[in-house]
Amino acid sequence: MREEVRQAVQHMKETSIPVPSGELTLVRKDGSPVTVYSSHALIQTGGNQPMLFCLDIDLSDRKRMEEKLRRASNEWRRTFDSIPDMITIIDNNHRILRSNRATWQRLGCTMQEIDSQPCYTKFHGLNSPPDYCPHVQLMLDKQPHSSEVFEPRLNAWLDVTVTPLFDDEGKVTGSIHVAHDITELKEAEKVLRVSEEKFRLLFEMSNDAILITVPDGNILAVNPESCRMFGMTADELIQVGREKIIDPSDNRYRPALETRARTGEFKGELNFVRKNGEVFPADVSSSIFKDSSGNTRATVRIEDISERKLVEKELKHKNAEIEQFIYTVSHDLRSPLITIKAFLGYLGRDISTGDRERIDKDLDFMHNAADRMEALLNELLDMSRIGRAVESREQMTFQELVAEAQSAVTGQIATGKVDIRLSTANPILYGDRRRLLQIWQNLLDNALKYMGDQRAPRVEITVEQQGEETVFCVCDNGIGIAPNYHEKIFGIFEKLDSTAGGVGMGLTMVRRIVENCGGRIWVESDGVGSGSCFHFTLPKVVAADPVSSD
Ligand code: ADP
Repeated sequence: MREEVRQAVQHMKETSIPVPSGELTLVRKDGSPVTVYSSHALIQTGGNQPMLFCLDIDLSDRKRMEEKLRRASNEWRRTFDSIPDMITIIDNNHRILRSNRATWQRLGCTMQEIDSQPCYTKFHGLNSPPDYCPHVQLMLDKQPHSSEVFEPRLNAWLDVTVTPLFDDEGKVTGSIHVAHDITELKEAEKVLRVSEEKFRLLFEMSNDAILITVPDGNILAVNPESCRMFGMTADELIQVGREKIIDPSDNRYRPALETRARTGEFKGELNFVRKNGEVFPADVSSSIFKDSSGNTRATVRIEDISERKLVEKELKHKNAEIEQFIYTVSHDLRSPLITIKAFLGYLGRDISTGDRERIDKDLDFMHNAADRMEALLNELLDMSRIGRAVESREQMTFQELVAEAQSAVTGQIATGKVDIRLSTANPILYGDRRRLLQIWQNLLDNALKYMGDQRAPRVEITVEQQGEETVFCVCDNGIGIAPNYHEKIFGIFEKLDSTAGGVGMGLTMVRRIVENCGGRIWVESDGVGSGSCFHFTLPKVVAADPVSSD
């Protein structure tokens, strides 16, 4: 260095041209370098030797400052580039002044390619700012703005925030534009919305009552089915709470609540009470959960099973009936078979002895037994078809049907000198003519058959409106039926008098036809000797307004 200085001084001496000013690194006494700004001038003093004037300004502080600034600038750039949001600084002409790495990477270009370009072109591929541009709003009102935007070019939802930049005079010079990718959040929101919608639909449309409760018994929310089931408005249900809708006499409640408190859920049957006091059985499932604020809540799903219970009861009854039926049928079919088998034995023996008279008798017995079996099977077959086979439906009147039934027994009516009384009402019926005729034929036949030795035999065939129901009756003043047989006589092969004709299937058949028409049949009789009255209804057969057809 000293050599360089010496040469420079020499050069100045020779040429009188001052060495240009500039930075120089000098060495201190202790050997450490020091950067200076060095200016030189040759001053002619009038003597032979001009004087060299040197001014060295120590640049150490400035260098330190510059280094600090450089570091700060690098640090800022690194920070700016490491932010995952897209950040741009935009001037008031929408030109991008600066942008961070996330911006160029998402846009798929270099920093140079977007520098000084309009943001609407680079971000949205447009020739002017879009309607929703928050920067436009900011330029108008100098306020920060934000908006959620779906950008198809990036296939992303962005939460865009613009913050104004002011100059010293308070004029807006542009904005800092931060675009935060909220696509995942939006997707999660969508999933949540869909699942909330599903839950709401389930809640609103459910055929079961659904209650949201506090486990202590307060009701917080109910669905429309709850209101229908309990006969109360939502407000009423919320006001009365659990204690007013449970059946206080149902001792399964406390254990159920204990189970739910212990395990977090309960499933089982419990009884509830409607507003009108009606108690009904229900299938219940309840679970405890924490709501979004961390409160303990419970869902209670209540399915009214009163109808199911009725059906179950009916099914049980029917099963018992079928069992009884099978037992009786097999028993009654077996007896003619036993007769035939027995007489086959006799026949063999009588053939070997050649006793013609006994052979004929044996054959007679066997014929009768076979006939009875055939009659039983025919009736069974006919009965099994009720409600199964496609029945032809036609319109007819009550009077027409009764007249037809009567004509089949004209002989018995005449011989027994039976007084037949018929009501004048004449409702229109719509159904299977043959089946409906079987009802009146059987009842009339029985009334005549079980008249006993009544000296003034009488049968009344009537129909009358009892409230909503049209009730038909066939009443006689014959031998009557003891009360303990009032139900039994409708069973298959049930005969109170085994010597009377018939196989004991008439009333079974009648009941099946009546039930198939949605109706019911019952007998009223004060006992032996006091006549019988068979009442029945046929809701599916009677015209909607039977009275007007009188
Ligand atoms: P059956 O073929 O024996 O008449 P039903 O099923 O029609 O069979 O009747 C069952 C039994 O009910 C009869 O055997 C009879 O004892 C009794 N019964 C039916 N109708 C009358 C009636 N009008 N009066 C008295 N008893 C009757």
